Amino acid sequence: MTYHMLTEATAAGHLGTIAAICDRLGGTPADWVVQEVGDGNLNLVFLVTGPDGGVAVKQALPYVRMVGESWPLPLSRAYYERLALADQARCAPHRVPALVHHDDAMALTVMDYLVPHRTLRGALVEGLRYPRLAEHLAEFLANTLFFTSDLAVPVAQKKARIAAYLGNTAMCRISEDLIFDEPFFDAQMNWHTPGLEDVVSRFQADIPLRLAAQEMKARFLAAPEALLHGDLHTGSVMVTQDDSKVIDPEFAFYGPIGFDVGMIIANLWLAAFAQAGLRPDTPHDDWLVEQADSLWQDFAERFADHWRNIDRADEAGALHALARQDDVLREAAISARLDAIWRDMLGFAGCEIIRRILGLAHVADFESIADVNTRAKCERQALSFGRALLVERDRFPDMAAIRPIIASEL
Ligand code: ADP
Ligand code: MG
Ligand code: MG
Ligand code: MG
Repeated sequence: MTYHMLTEATAAGHLGTIAAICDRLGGTPADWVVQEVGDGNLNLVFLVTGPDGGVAVKQALPYVRMVGESWPLPLSRAYYERLALADQARCAPHRVPALVHHDDAMALTVMDYLVPHRTLRGALVEGLRYPRLAEHLAEFLANTLFFTSDLAVPVAQKKARIAAYLGNTAMCRISEDLIFDEPFFDAQMNWHTPGLEDVVSRFQADIPLRLAAQEMKARFLAAPEALLHGDLHTGSVMVTQDDSKVIDPEFAFYGPIGFDVGMIIANLWLAAFAQAGLRPDTPHDDWLVEQADSLWQDFAERFADHWRNIDRADEAGALHALARQDDVLREAAISARLDAIWRDMLGFAGCEIIRRILGLAHVADFESIADVNTRAKCERQALSFGRALLVERDRFPDMAAIRPIIASEL
């Protein structure tokens, strides 16, 4: 089968040739309902339902959806997405949709239809809450990041896995440009809310800030610590009151652990900064900031516990060997490693906050604030916090040091 783009009209006919999908949906393709729902920037997503069940069908386009054919992007991102979905399913089976079928030539990934889930970002914009969110995200992070790292995987196997993802360069390049470079100079695709011009020009002349962003880029480029999701913002999380699943790992590659952790925590902080603007008449509390706190704590505890428990495993990763017989050394190693991840997390979170306000890809959290002056005010507070995360990291040894700063900004 050579590549062709599916449409709502042609999808059922194509999918009806695939036994695993026919089994899942029941009936015949003529009975199936197909709806294209892609709200992301890059790809097509069809929800297909039949008498017995449904699937979500994601197809990559040979270009960036939000921009069009003038910005080509390789179809191979679909290959890396399903590779990552399979690796993540081994580490955190309850936190990702199961793969049903894939077709590399068609750049097609067919997975569980998550229902009645919705994307977390939209839910947070509406002020909704999810009691198990932090726990679920911590599980996803600790499991995928620990069990793909040198702590858990023998060296030769780890290097083979790094190699398996090395070709996802076009997707990494998007992150390199949009997260670490463009927000810090007058790049063509940057845009911002009117009223922020003074911050924009200050940031573009801010050597310590720009240097810190370059240092985070260096970490991103040259620290293949674990399999990263690579695009773990709140639009890549789908939730119900008692379930949370992570979707959309097409940016996956082996990179620094703090990147995924920092990205999702930054997006919770962005939601916190937007609250006052979204609901000016409703008193808001610290729920979002608390979620970021408990996400980190839960992640750190799980990561440490995986490390302690892997002692019992026959074959652990290379980094673990020396500490294996020595509890004191092992506990020291755990705490040193978590400190390093924390520092990376802060820096990556700072970059994410700034690029979502001054770069190309903004977030609905702020974009949904109708009043421009209010939006600019919320964004200005977030920007100053983002700068502090990058330039004054020593001020933030733990979440307790961060909390009052976000609270006072709000
Ligand atoms: P993109 O890479 O273009 O951002 P996503 O994988 O994020 O695409 O999917 C876009 C949207 O499609 C999601 O925000 C969600 O609304 C919907 N979607 C994606 N996967 C599923 C799924 N497995 N079940 C239900 N809806 C899904
Ligand atoms: Mg997406
Ligand atoms: Mg995507
Ligand atoms: Mg307030």
